Amino acid sequence: MNVHHELINWYQTVKRDLPWRHTTDAYTIWLSEIILQQTRVEQGMPYYHRFIETYPTVTHFAAAPEDDILKLWQGLGYYSRGRNMLKTARQVQDEYGGKFPTTYQELIKLKGIGEYTAAAIASFAANEAKAVLDGNVYRVLSRYLGISEAIDSTVGKKLFRQAADDFLNKKNPATHNQAMMELGALVCKPKNPACGTCPIRPGCYAFLNNATTALPVKSKKVKIKERYFNYFLIEDEGKILMNKRAENDIWANMYDLPLIETPLPTTIDELAALPQTTEIFGSELIIKKVFPVVKHILTHQHLHVRFIIWGKKPPAMKPNWVFIEVENLKKIALPKVVFIFLDNFLN
Ligand code: SF4
Repeated sequence: MNVHHELINWYQTVKRDLPWRHTTDAYTIWLSEIILQQTRVEQGMPYYHRFIETYPTVTHFAAAPEDDILKLWQGLGYYSRGRNMLKTARQVQDEYGGKFPTTYQELIKLKGIGEYTAAAIASFAANEAKAVLDGNVYRVLSRYLGISEAIDSTVGKKLFRQAADDFLNKKNPATHNQAMMELGALVCKPKNPACGTCPIRPGCYAFLNNATTALPVKSKKVKIKERYFNYFLIEDEGKILMNKRAENDIWANMYDLPLIETPLPTTIDELAALPQTTEIFGSELIIKKVFPVVKHILTHQHLHVRFIIWGKKPPAMKPNWVFIEVENLKKIALPKVVFIFLDNFLN
């Protein structure tokens, strides 16, 4: 059995028909790759179409104001990706006259493009012999080759890089890379891999040694942080009091509502009695409505979010607070959980 042959044959038969697989345009591939990082294909697809329609070339993208990019990005999370994309696009515009580079060496020097994205663009756009290494590929390689070094350790990363390069089909790197990622996404899944339908099963270490649950190995367990957000909705003559967020936390520089965060869950009475609450609102409790807590899941954080309709204006404004007309709220990018609440509440 020629493993490369089996892999590509399988891919040609089962591959999903995704729009970015019909192009060798580096800009389009770059857009799709960044959008799909940490995002499911079904979720990313409408964003991909919206971005391509709004910014058909990197020159259009580079000329966009950051707020417009973030607004279009709204709901995808990891807003720093949107910001970094703008930096990349502007660099391509300035240094390459708006022609997106296609060699790994050029791509890796661009801001916001790491090893994975550079290898993906170079191989998909120009068939350069560069192996991609994303979560799916790590898993397939670890199981197929029986590599038990932790995928998130320095030694492991080096080892997998070497393994991916050695395993690359040099005659057809673009299709090989696509096939490896597709195999990880559709067959060699993290839990219950479908080994019965796997094209490379005959040579697979994990299958032959009953080790699919043990591989790949990770050294660090990501700790999930629980956070308790109490948002206050304060209206004044068709305007909503909004809070511009700090740079050093999630949703950097975006707008949300005035917020009191607590380290543990609180009752409304406990919340109202907290010094940070009385400091803002005084001791008089004027609550019009309290909505049930919603859980909003981010990669490393679970947010327990409670919205409270507050019945009076705070006596003093904080420097990062501003009243914004309801109409204008539609034009700014808001964290998804805040956007959904305001959308339901105001309509
Ligand atoms: S045989 Fe199973 S474990 Fe091995 S590569 Fe295929 S799906 Fe993954």
